[in-house]
Amino acid sequence: MTFNEWHAQFEWEQIQDKIQCKTEVDVQRALAKTGNLDLEDFAALISEAAIPYLETMAQKSRAITLKRFGRTMQMYLPLYLSNECSNACTYCGFSYLNKDIHRLTLNKEQLLSEIQVIKQWPYEHILLLTGEDAKNAGFEYLREAVQICKEHFKHISIEVQPMDTEEYKILAKEGVSAVMVYQETYHQKNYKKYHTSGKKSVFSYRLEAPERICEAGLRKVGLGCLIGLEDWRADSFFTAMHLRFLEKKYWRTRFSISLPRLRPHAGLQDQKNFQTDKELFQLICAYRLFDPDVEISLSTRESPVFRDNAVKVAVTSLSAGSRTDPGGYSLSKEELPQFMVNDDRSPEEVASMLIKEGYEPVWKDWDPVLDAF
Ligand code: SF4
Repeated sequence: MTFNEWHAQFEWEQIQDKIQCKTEVDVQRALAKTGNLDLEDFAALISEAAIPYLETMAQKSRAITLKRFGRTMQMYLPLYLSNECSNACTYCGFSYLNKDIHRLTLNKEQLLSEIQVIKQWPYEHILLLTGEDAKNAGFEYLREAVQICKEHFKHISIEVQPMDTEEYKILAKEGVSAVMVYQETYHQKNYKKYHTSGKKSVFSYRLEAPERICEAGLRKVGLGCLIGLEDWRADSFFTAMHLRFLEKKYWRTRFSISLPRLRPHAGLQDQKNFQTDKELFQLICAYRLFDPDVEISLSTRESPVFRDNAVKVAVTSLSAGSRTDPGGYSLSKEELPQFMVNDDRSPEEVASMLIKEGYEPVWKDWDPVLDAF
C-alpha cells in the first residue's frame, strides 16, 4: 500500500474532531508512557488539552533529545540556485504569477561566486534550492550544480521539484544524500486552492515523492507542511502519520521534520491559520515525544529568541546567515527573497550562542568517507 492509498482512508474533519476531543487524561496518559507513543498520543499532545502541560512536555523532550543526539547541533546553509518557477502557489513570492520579481537562475560562474563567499564560514553541509522550472532549472541543471558543489562541500541536500525514482537514483550517485519535500498541506480538497496550476497542483505526485526518494536509496528524507495554510493541528497529525508510515516501510532511511510557518513575502494573500509561538513550541515537543529519532530542523524564519529556546528542547538542525534569494551571498543586486528571514544573526553569532549553551555546532551532516562502510 502507498501512503497515497493510506491517506485516502481518512477524512480531514474526522482528524480535526479526533484532536479536538482529546482531554487532559489523554495527555497525561501520553506523558506517562515509557515506550513508543502512537498517533493517538500525538493527537493528544498537539491538542488544546495539552497546553497546561507544556513545561512537562519541554522537560521530557529535552531529556530525550540529549539522550539521543547529545549536545550537538547540525548546521546547514541554504543556497538558492534559481527563483524561476512554473507553478502558481498562492503563498510564495516565486510564483510565476508574481510579475514584480526579477528572475534569476545562477550560471556556473555565479554559483562559484556564491560558494566562494559561503566558504568563508565552516559550512560543509549545503541545501540547494530551486523553484520548479523544468526548462531553466530542471534535472540536468541541478545535476551539474551538484557536481560543482560536491567539490566544495561534504554533504549536499536538495529542496527542489519532486522527481521520478530514476532521477533520484542518479542524483544520489552524484552525491546528494538528502531530499526535502514538504507536502505544504495534507488537505487534499483544499490543496488545489493553493496550487492552482503547474505540476505542483498534482497532489498525489507530491505525496508519493518521499516513497520514491526512499526507493532510490537516498540517506535522508525531510517531511513537513507549511504551517498557516490549513488547521496546523490536522496538518501536523497527517505529517506524523506520514512519518510513521515511512519509518515502518523504509527502516534504513533517516527522516527529518521541518516546521516552516508562513512568513511575509510578496504576493501573500490571507493568513487565517496563524500558529502562535507557544503552539509551535508545543508542536516541536510533541514531535520529539512521538519520535525520539526524528531530526527536527528550524530555519531562520523563526526569531532568535524562539530558536535559542527550541535548541535546548528538541531541535537538532539549524541554519544561520541564510539568504533566500539566488545570488544572495555574492551578488550586489538583491533579488526578491522567497520569504523574509526573522533571525539575521551570522553563523558565528549562532555558533557562539550554541557554545555558550553547552552545544557543539557540527558543520556537516555526514562524511562521504563513511559511505564505504
Ligand atoms: S512554493 Fe515552490 S513551486 Fe510554489 S511558487 Fe514557490 S518556488 Fe514555485
